[in-house]
Amino acid sequence: MTRLAIRYDVVIVGGGPGGMSAAIGALEAGADRVLIVDREIELGGILNQCIHNGFGLHHFGEELTGPEYASRLIEELLDHRIDVATDSYVLDVDADRTLTVASPSTGITRVQAGAVVLAMGARERTRGAIRIPGSRPSGIMTAGLAQKFVNQLGYLPGRRAVILGSGDIGLIMARRLALEDVEVHGVYELMPHANGLTRNIVQCLHDFDIPLHLSTTVVGIEGSRRLERVAVAPVDENFEPDLARATEIECDTLLVSIGLIPENELSAKLGLRMDPTTGGPVVSSTMETSRDGVFAAGNVVHIHDLVDFVSQEALLAGRCAGEFATGRSRPADNIRLLAGANVASIVPHTISSDREHVVYLRVRRSMEKSWLRLGEVYEKRLRYVVPAEMVSLKVRPRFLENFHGDALKIDIVPREEPGGDDE
Ligand SMILES: Cc1cc2nc3c(=O)[nH]c(=O)nc-3n(C[C@H](O)[C@H](O)[C@H](O)COP(=O)(O)OP(=O)(O)OC[C@H]3O[C@@H](n4cnc5c(N)ncnc54)[C@H](O)[C@@H]3O)c2cc1C
Repeated sequence: MTRLAIRYDVVIVGGGPGGMSAAIGALEAGADRVLIVDREIELGGILNQCIHNGFGLHHFGEELTGPEYASRLIEELLDHRIDVATDSYVLDVDADRTLTVASPSTGITRVQAGAVVLAMGARERTRGAIRIPGSRPSGIMTAGLAQKFVNQLGYLPGRRAVILGSGDIGLIMARRLALEDVEVHGVYELMPHANGLTRNIVQCLHDFDIPLHLSTTVVGIEGSRRLERVAVAPVDENFEPDLARATEIECDTLLVSIGLIPENELSAKLGLRMDPTTGGPVVSSTMETSRDGVFAAGNVVHIHDLVDFVSQEALLAGRCAGEFATGRSRPADNIRLLAGANVASIVPHTISSDREHVVYLRVRRSMEKSWLRLGEVYEKRLRYVVPAEMVSLKVRPRFLENFHGDALKIDIVPREEPGGDDE
């Protein structure tokens, strides 16, 4: 049980990879009283249930499982003096950066923070979000919940499974269930393209002979106590299902993997300016939100496909929070970034012309060969872009030497001419 102090330099909400990396950043910046609060009983966030490998290639230079990645961060934290309050829920963050923390062991505590980092991660969309018609038997759950059952609690969710949605969690669970001898009928995806990383399509579906049905969705659910069958049907270009071509599949489990929603109830209560495209707060190049001294990083800001990028972003947020809390001034941004052709979202939302930044983008649709154009000042060839994979762009001060405006549009446009590929 951690007895909380009344005042900290930096308080971090969430102890996943985002929260832990932010803590390391804050400590590196000289903050000496740092607190991480997490509602779970141990640090690690979503990584604790991700026992597959594929984490850490960029950040640690080797391929780790989720729990291994988390324990690397925990080991780094052990080198420092830091308070950790697990099994503790942050109920509120006030505008003056007072946090209300509830825990079964210490009750309600009010903690004053010099700076706050929001790192609450994301939660999964459920069946309710897409209103699949039919009964409400047991056996229907999100892919992440099934992952927790299998990997952490030691239960199998069923014996014959259908997976709706080709996001990474669904793909990884298709393979995980196949490894446990569950009959996986297939992954059904509404869109004409898969929504997970290409490597997961190959390693989780192709390698296990699990079919992927694009432009197809679940249109019916049957079963009284337990799920007995689902109906699937192809959809047209307006995503309208063709019910005349629906077929039935006998199964006792339906896993839905239809996207993640940034966990932003605290941000909304705080009145932060939000980006409707990412579902997260608008942030500057220091990962500061629209409230002074409140920073954010990780899936709470925008959904990441790689944890390594979460760590990089959170280290920056933590460093800047540490600098804020210890009274150092932070540089101001002078350029707004605007989403142009085939760009769905951009983080951060503003940058400054005198420092180097990493900017993360998501595209609206797949493109084989394209140019990424940063206004008129810089362009780069891209080999392919897909909505499921984040594009990162290093913006260097020399790109902006002759730019005197206050807004730059980023476009991703088709590339006709032959030539080498950068990425
Ligand atoms: C199934 C799956 C497979 C993945 N596979 C890969 C992969 O192969 N490679 C890869 O690089 N990445 C992978 N990822 C992505 C990676 O795991 C995430 O990007 C990363 O974990 C996000 O980190 P985070 O700290 O932002 O959020 P999280 O890990 O979700 O942590 C957020 C933490 O905040 C806590 N919290 C939330 N609200 C509160 C509150 N009010 N009070 C207290 N605590 C709170 C939560 O309990 C949680 O512990 C995968 C993700 C999933 C779900």
